[in-house]
Amino acid sequence: MNSKVESVLKEIENFKATTEKELEEFRLKFISKKSVVTELFSELKNIPNDQKKAFGQQLNEVKQAAQNKFKSIIDNLNSSNESGSQSHVDLTLPPSGGEIGSLHPLTIIRAQIIEIFERIGFNVSDGPEIEDDWHNFTALNFPENHPAREMQDTFFIERNPDMLLRTHTSNVQARLMKSGTPPFRSIMPGRVFRNEAISARAHCVFHQVEGLYVAEDVSFVDLKQTIYHFAKEMFGKETQIRFRPSYFPFTEPSAEVDISCQICKGDGCQLCKYTGWVEIAGSGMVDPNVLENCGIDSEKYTGFAFGMGLERIAQLKYQVNDLRLYTENDVRFLSQFKTGL
Ligand SMILES: [Zn+2]
Repeated sequence: MNSKVESVLKEIENFKATTEKELEEFRLKFISKKSVVTELFSELKNIPNDQKKAFGQQLNEVKQAAQNKFKSIIDNLNSSNESGSQSHVDLTLPPSGGEIGSLHPLTIIRAQIIEIFERIGFNVSDGPEIEDDWHNFTALNFPENHPAREMQDTFFIERNPDMLLRTHTSNVQARLMKSGTPPFRSIMPGRVFRNEAISARAHCVFHQVEGLYVAEDVSFVDLKQTIYHFAKEMFGKETQIRFRPSYFPFTEPSAEVDISCQICKGDGCQLCKYTGWVEIAGSGMVDPNVLENCGIDSEKYTGFAFGMGLERIAQLKYQVNDLRLYTENDVRFLSQFKTGL
């Protein structure tokens, strides 16, 4: 093969074009009327007659190679660039449908809890995550130096007067009760903080939902029926519920709430530590001191309160056994919670 023809052919084969601009460069150089290929054809007349046929064949090969290459560059450009150049876009095609993500499992659980309580007349209240000592502790019957404060060590933003990251959403209860006169019937979902070492079972950031009902003649029966309603709506009609006497500074009497284990249905398994029961919430009648601290007449009004961890409820619903997964933003974990968005 003629060495000039050969080098043009090589150049065509090795040409790399990934943009519209490079495609145009290729066209000008190898396809257009002023291209090197056209130039080669013009040399045909100088070739001795006996070699003309062979030379002509070589030129046709080069021309064909240039056209094939040109077409393949266009194909590549179209497939690598989805939007393509305007002439290659078919706007009538249905959309290809990208990844739309999913709701975080805690968001799903929070929405379910809010829906359940809204159906029986609770509204949703919100409050600050950075709180003063009074709303987080003192108003809720945690006297200074009380050992219960030790269990809720947190992060202090300022000292004297103390500003801190709230250890529970109960500060919203205090603010709600101070805001007016009963009745109050509200739930408070939110993020809370504790000074805990991070492990599978403890975290320095987690979420709670608390509930508060203060009115005339509210009794423990109302608390029990409210919890029954919630547990059966959340975990199914077959769910068994029990109240265990307990202690919290802000309620009297106080009880922890257990439900029958969702895994073993009461037979005993690792999750329920072979008891058949798992704890879901703390609850009790609001301590009269707390009502008085917030300016509510404890002779006239009574109330109940309860609180639960969103991560705990999600753990029971989804069998997630490591708290850290909720905040690691691992897409492999999060994408398992597809919901109808
Ligand atoms: Zn079990």
